[in-house]
Amino acid sequence: MKCYFCGAQTKEQLITDLYTEGNLYLAVENVPADVCQQCGERYYSPEVMKKLLALTEGMREHAAVGPPGRKADLTVCDFAAADTHTH
Ligand SMILES: [Zn+2]
Repeated sequence: MKCYFCGAQTKEQLITDLYTEGNLYLAVENVPADVCQQCGERYYSPEVMKKLLALTEGMREHAAVGPPGRKADLTVCDFAAADTHTH
């Protein structure tokens, strides 16, 4: 596909997605995304987006949150190995 922002060609890649919320750090590895080769913009399919949201929601509940001012440990999750057939 073409990048919505700069018009360059995107390429399908497995990426690591990082989220920070306060002192909580989440990383999801092996996420399939279309990545713009020029500006780096990432595009996810609706299915991937949905799974990502479910994953980070679950990780948030289980991640250890440290006291304010202290950096929490990075919580890492493998997108490919994650089970999304809950509910
Ligand atoms: Zn671009």
